[in-house]
Amino acid sequence: MLAGLLVRFFMSQILETRSVKLNTRVNIEVRRTIPNRKLRTIGAFCFVDYFGPTDQTEAMVVAAHPHTGLQTVTWLFEGEVEHRDSVGSVQVIKPGQLNLMTAGKGISHSELSKKTEGRLHGIQLWVALEDKDRFTEPSFEHVSNNQQLENDGMKLKVFMGELMGCGSPAKLYSKLVAAEIELQPGEHVLEVNPEFEHGLMLVEGDYESEGEKVQEAELVYFESGQSEIKISVKTKTKLVLIGGEPFKEQLVMWWNFIARSHAEIEQMRLMWNDQQNRETGHDNFGVFEDEVGSWIPAPEMPNVQLRGRSQQG
Ligand code: MN
Repeated sequence: MLAGLLVRFFMSQILETRSVKLNTRVNIEVRRTIPNRKLRTIGAFCFVDYFGPTDQTEAMVVAAHPHTGLQTVTWLFEGEVEHRDSVGSVQVIKPGQLNLMTAGKGISHSELSKKTEGRLHGIQLWVALEDKDRFTEPSFEHVSNNQQLENDGMKLKVFMGELMGCGSPAKLYSKLVAAEIELQPGEHVLEVNPEFEHGLMLVEGDYESEGEKVQEAELVYFESGQSEIKISVKTKTKLVLIGGEPFKEQLVMWWNFIARSHAEIEQMRLMWNDQQNRETGHDNFGVFEDEVGSWIPAPEMPNVQLRGRSQQG
């Protein structure tokens, strides 16, 4: 009985955002919901950043920096960003398209918003790779033919995994889903995988969770075990759904690296900061040219030992 009450209580909960300044050329501020004191991951999603809406020009100028052990997922609602990386990719991303970068054992990349009219508005998610995949070769994928589904006032753009018969060809390493959802006023039902836990992020419009108003960029968390998520909206509303099988491994996340121990992180940091290595290309993170120029050094390690964090609680 008590367990039942606790589960009921935890069924859905609003994860608030916090403002984070990114270490970049221009002062980018993002709104982050994951990781969070209450919850470290949703499925394999271990980072959920929401940026903009802001003026497009100079909105994003992120010099070369490395990643390990994860995939970065970029999805825009407005604007254009150019991505370059050390596997040779040069790719402009526009709304409705997916940029998916698999860092695996190590990659570096830069991001530059195009000098176009209008606003920049989007999300960047990180997907943690399981231990068996985290040293995979780095790669990059751009998907512009994501399937869409329009039905009864609900429009789905699925950019990772599969939802309600609509799918994305993007390469996944664990079972997960990500989709943009546009709803006309009224009641809607999302049929979801009951093995997944989910988060619903508000992008624009009006969305309430159990009577409480959800703010832009906030994420409503839904435990696994549910095959339907009911959504009722009063105005036209845009949401992003993310979900996946609860992630079981402990992660050590520091700066742009995901590893399993303090020692591994230390080694990744040294490798990246060794400019000599990077200029000759004989290191883990490769080299590439871009318009941004230069690179972002990793900060000092903290004085405390970084430890693996279990994913919930
Ligand atoms: Mn990055």
